Amino acid sequence: MKTLTTDVVIIGAGPVGLFQVFELGLQGLTSVVIDSLPEVGGQCSELYPDKPIYDIPALPNAKASQVIDNLCLQAAPFDPTYLLGERVEDINKLSDVSFSVTTHKNTLIHCRAVIIAAGNGAFSPVKLKLPLIDKFEDKQLFYRINNIEHFKDKNVVVLGGGDAALDWSLSLQKIANSVLLIHRSTKFKAATSSVNEMFALCEQLKMQFLCGQVSDFQQEDNKLTGLTISSKDGIKRRVELDELVIFFGMSPKIGPIENWQLAMHQHQIKVDTQSFQTSVRGIYAVGDINYYPGKRKLILSGFHETALAAFSIAETVLEKDRIPTLYTTTSPVVHQRMGVTHSLESLLDD
Ligand SMILES: Cc1cc2nc3c(=O)[nH]c(=O)nc-3n(C[C@H](O)[C@H](O)[C@H](O)COP(=O)(O)OP(=O)(O)OC[C@H]3O[C@@H](n4cnc5c(N)ncnc54)[C@H](O)[C@@H]3O)c2cc1C
Repeated sequence: MKTLTTDVVIIGAGPVGLFQVFELGLQGLTSVVIDSLPEVGGQCSELYPDKPIYDIPALPNAKASQVIDNLCLQAAPFDPTYLLGERVEDINKLSDVSFSVTTHKNTLIHCRAVIIAAGNGAFSPVKLKLPLIDKFEDKQLFYRINNIEHFKDKNVVVLGGGDAALDWSLSLQKIANSVLLIHRSTKFKAATSSVNEMFALCEQLKMQFLCGQVSDFQQEDNKLTGLTISSKDGIKRRVELDELVIFFGMSPKIGPIENWQLAMHQHQIKVDTQSFQTSVRGIYAVGDINYYPGKRKLILSGFHETALAAFSIAETVLEKDRIPTLYTTTSPVVHQRMGVTHSLESLLDD
């Protein structure tokens, strides 16, 4: 079992979880950020990375992926530990300032407070709904490609019509023995340029495309050997394969959060708006996952919430009645925490 120790565990690396690192850092607190996804950014990275956002203060027009890159840059001076591809399963309260958090990969993190920035829940892949096909998962059936070399010289079937399905089909086509892309429609969510490239490769017989849906699978000696594809023309086709890769997108699941004995309001965690503490002392909730009267699920609301949660945690951990508000512009303490070396005078001189 891997064990880590930090001041605060942040569950969720969406925009709000990332900004939480910064706000905790200003208070001199370290953090470990955990996300079930293999990359940071939450909904911004997973659902709309290329769309512009217009309501981030002082960023009149920035792509969602750019906002996430900037948040990571802003958090970097505080050197957070990111545990990506790990889903938090359990929070164990040992005292008001002592918790342990465990992930599904059996990582154990000891901390002094927990902040839940879990959005609408942990993102996980939308699965192919065929009874008993799950047993091939991570053997011949994959929802994510970690090592493309695994597919070298294999006959690969890719399912899906979004960017991931198209981009990976184009990459796999270069190393696999054969690639067959199957999508239920000839309308694709993926970028037009990738779709055009795919059809051009099909023209050159370098890969194939089939419009239809998987209705059954075949196996031999416990190995997945083929799929039955039902098409709109009413014809059922058999395709043979060595490997199956599925990109049906990601969907959030509230999952374990509802078992953590926190007061809830319709799948959202109730908080008080002074500190964003939940019904359990030492556990906080910020961003889309929390609920209070007037709550709006907006990134900027989450940013505000992170600042007050960080002040509250600092007061609890340091046992102070009130932590003073320090300006990032002028406070030498904050500059030291951020690793900023220039003085205010030199800034004004520039
Ligand atoms: C299409 C679209 C457009 C939008 N446009 C705007 C806009 O213009 N302006 C705006 O302000 N907002 C916009 N939003 C809303 C905005 O994206 C959300 O308010 C924001 O992402 C919330 O951030 P968050 O960090 O709270 O949660 P999320 O971004 O949802 O991140 C939460 C993260 O927590 C992880 N997680 C959850 N549970 C666990 C667990 N148990 N273990 C490990 N990880 C876990 C999830 O995998 C996820 O990555 C838009 C949303 C959508 C869908």
